[in-house]
Amino acid sequence: MLMQKTIEVKSREELAIMRVAGGIVADILVLLKGMVRPGMTTGEIDQVAREELKKRNAKPAFLNYHGFPGVICVSINSEIVHGIPSDKRSLKDGDIVGLDFGSIVEGWYGDSAITVPIGTISPEAERLIRVTRESLEKGLAAVKGGGRVGDIGFAVQSHAEAAGYTVVREFVGHGIGRALHEEPPIPNYGKPGTGARLRTGMTIAIEPMVNMGGPEVATLGDGWTAVTKDGKLSAHFEHTVAVTDAGFEILTLPSAMTHRQPRAI
Ligand code: MG
Ligand code: MG
Repeated sequence: MLMQKTIEVKSREELAIMRVAGGIVADILVLLKGMVRPGMTTGEIDQVAREELKKRNAKPAFLNYHGFPGVICVSINSEIVHGIPSDKRSLKDGDIVGLDFGSIVEGWYGDSAITVPIGTISPEAERLIRVTRESLEKGLAAVKGGGRVGDIGFAVQSHAEAAGYTVVREFVGHGIGRALHEEPPIPNYGKPGTGARLRTGMTIAIEPMVNMGGPEVATLGDGWTAVTKDGKLSAHFEHTVAVTDAGFEILTLPSAMTHRQPRAI
């Protein structure tokens, strides 16, 4: 019989700190979304994210993680995740850009991602972004104390595939808390009623990576950047959430929004 890996449940106090870490991630993503434009380098995005973390006394969650050289992953068009920021790489009109970002506050982690348009993008790219965001929303709606991890994957996968897209298998969501990646893995595929049991107080990151073409992934020569094998577009959205009896609470909401949110868990 296999040993069950430990899935931590967080206390009310611990969730309060994760809300702060998540709020900082969300606030900086909102700022970056308003800032990105054609001609901006991905290195500039990293620099802004770095300074904004410092202003808020938060630490970067990704910098030096297994040797990652940036504070933010910037993944353009056919890049799925883990794009390395560079001063030599400029955004172009029509690009879609995944911004995946994390912070640490008092040892607790927040992790969130958005995909944003640069200038004017094609209707096809717009649809991919919308469906990927909706897939995250469907995944969130499947979260509930007593539910299963497979409920989430099924919800994400069903929505993406109904739109004619595919979900990436090689990268998955994850538990999160005192480490960026904790148990359990949260795949973007699955069957309802299967997988690890969700318990109130668990904190997980749900992060659909949705491809316009096939689900196959390749890694670039830099050892990090994951791209679609067929070169077609990919989009990515992510929230860190706490499991509640009734459903979920998003921990990576902009601070202006959390002030209006009920804090029950
Ligand atoms: Mg992330
Ligand atoms: Mg993540």
